[in-house]
Amino acid sequence: MCAAWRVRVNAAKRTVLSTISKSSQLRHAYADGRFGLSYEFFPPKTAEGEADLFEHFQELVKYNPSFATCTYGAGGSTCEKTLAIASRLKRDYDVRVAAHLTCVGATRADIEAFLEQAREEDVDYIMALRGDPPKGEKKFVPVAGGFGYANELVAFIRESYPGFGIAVAGYPETHPEAPNRTSDLENLRRKVDAGADVVVSQLFYDNEDFYRFRDRCEAIGIEVPIIPGILPVTAVSQLKRVVALCGAHVPEALMERLEVHPDKSQGQFDVGVYHATRQVEDLVSRGGCPGVHFYCLNKSRAVATILRTLTLPNIETFRHA
Ligand SMILES: Cc1cc2nc3c(=O)[nH]c(=O)nc-3n(C[C@H](O)[C@H](O)[C@H](O)COP(=O)(O)OP(=O)(O)OC[C@H]3O[C@@H](n4cnc5c(N)ncnc54)[C@H](O)[C@@H]3O)c2cc1C
Repeated sequence: MCAAWRVRVNAAKRTVLSTISKSSQLRHAYADGRFGLSYEFFPPKTAEGEADLFEHFQELVKYNPSFATCTYGAGGSTCEKTLAIASRLKRDYDVRVAAHLTCVGATRADIEAFLEQAREEDVDYIMALRGDPPKGEKKFVPVAGGFGYANELVAFIRESYPGFGIAVAGYPETHPEAPNRTSDLENLRRKVDAGADVVVSQLFYDNEDFYRFRDRCEAIGIEVPIIPGILPVTAVSQLKRVVALCGAHVPEALMERLEVHPDKSQGQFDVGVYHATRQVEDLVSRGGCPGVHFYCLNKSRAVATILRTLTLPNIETFRHA
């Protein structure tokens, strides 16, 4: 398509998209053969870290993400930074953004204040989460007047802030606190019934875990898109830290191939990125996934290598009008 045409078509698309709700926009990113690409970042602790994040995003924005997300720190410690980063990504890079939000340590009034601010900053979507119990505590206990589970948060956002698109977390290998797989799935359905537009999965290293999860979701009538979450391994020490937190299973063969090389070496990077590339290729071609969510850890090299290697179908930019 010639450049002038592309400009006209994009302008027309933006006009159409600006007239539909954010909720529809989020679903739209994965609908009708489109491929929704999203990147997740976390709020850095220092000004250098922040500058670094935007430099890395500059590399990744070239691949036309549907949206970028910024996480919410444990105990709500980063809520202002979460919004500041999301809002700057939108302003400076003209990309749609999601702010993560958890119920940890938050009253309903705290959550309202966050959502008001998010609306003011023109955040498009909310990744609505319960969050983990604070460090040293085994069980999540809601504060008085707060929410006990993510489905309650989703219902609250849908009712009081209908302008946002809503994403929720799903667990291919079952959430570590869930008593069993069935009750975890029933919970996921509660989140979708409460109004979630899309499920983004916890990271996993064996696609079969994801496919079985997706089949179970379909079997209980979950119909929104279920998007695989991919964290390319770049070092064994990093992998061990992440797996200790979320309990994902690492295939033995992958660990063996990684451990041939010293920690944090180019060899480990290559093995990890090769594995993630094959995962994404399979999820798209065999699994027919309508999108992928990359846990970027504020770096671009691994994800950009994957995106350069693969030709993903029909990626469309949903930049705001
Ligand atoms: C894509 C993604 C993004 C994330 N981003 C962040 C982030 O930004 N900040 C952060 O701190 N953490 C984040 N997390 C981690 C997440 O907060 C933890 O996994 C947390 O332990 C669960 O959150 P949830 O929203 O899935 O909880 P929920 O859906 O509420 O589930 C929590 C547990 O309770 C069970 N449960 C739910 N509802 C009920 C019910 N009604 N009755 C009985 N049991 C129930 C579930 O089966 C599950 O075991 C993210 C995870 C993912 C996958």
